[in-house]
Amino acid sequence: MAAYHDHPLSGHFGTGRTWSMLRNTYYWPRMKATITSYIKSCDKCSQFNVDRHKPPGFLQPIQPPNEVFQVFAKASPTNTAQDTARILMEEIILVHGSPDTIITDQGAHFKNELLQAISNLTCCKHIFSTPYHPQTNGQTERWNSTFLTQIAKYCNTDLNNWDTFLPSIVYAYNNGIHSSTGISPYQLAFGRRQRHPFNPPATTFVFSKPHDYWTQVIQYRNAALKQAKQHIIHQQEQSKIRFDKNRTHPNFVLGDLVWMKIFVGRHKLEARYTGPARIIRILSPVSFIVEDEHLQQFQVHSNNIRRVYSR
Ligand SMILES: [Zn+2]
Repeated sequence: MAAYHDHPLSGHFGTGRTWSMLRNTYYWPRMKATITSYIKSCDKCSQFNVDRHKPPGFLQPIQPPNEVFQVFAKASPTNTAQDTARILMEEIILVHGSPDTIITDQGAHFKNELLQAISNLTCCKHIFSTPYHPQTNGQTERWNSTFLTQIAKYCNTDLNNWDTFLPSIVYAYNNGIHSSTGISPYQLAFGRRQRHPFNPPATTFVFSKPHDYWTQVIQYRNAALKQAKQHIIHQQEQSKIRFDKNRTHPNFVLGDLVWMKIFVGRHKLEARYTGPARIIRILSPVSFIVEDEHLQQFQVHSNNIRRVYSR
């Protein structure tokens, strides 16, 4: 097997090719299975091969929100901890109450003592998305991809006036039907349709008993929230079916050895994977903390690791 796989004349090719070469000359019991496991455990192949399968790891849908007001957009003059904390405190928590969970990327303006102190004080759970796997922060990433395109259409040539248009673009978004809820965010929040500045003024006005209005709003909101939640769950199930199709879901356990994908500074001819590293913490079914031989720790997503198979 070493001659027919590792030798330069054999070229580290895959199971099919190696097996068809060997079977011309040799036979042994469970031949294909031993060749498969030999190649699976080849260090060179693990570190250099390009993965042509869908990356492993099934989709882990986020619980649909039970309440409204989960996405705001605020422009910040700087990306310091102070400005971030001020916006969170003054514009979100003191206006709408404190959130259950804060999901951020690992930027220094989010990962600091000030923000930690605020989230402790207001009893929010702070979750960081995995580096190289920004999808964890799915809502925000999706939001950014929508809004960057929209904002770009209004920006001047110096690209320095985007913050001027941010509030009106957020307004337009909140006024439109949202594909995952089937209802506009505004309707969901306030229990009525927004009067749009372009609409002609109403010609009639219906008086209702003051306490009637409150009952109606509550009924409307309950129905709308229930409908929105069902709609989200349905959309998530559909995306999960599409995402998981033809995809594997490896079950890594504590202590497993893995190869880690190299992201920066890799020459074209250098190995794609480094390691081995050992899984020392399981953060979710698809994200892990691993430690390499130099005792350095990394947070990785199952997309970016490969199991080490021992010979
Ligand atoms: Zn090989």
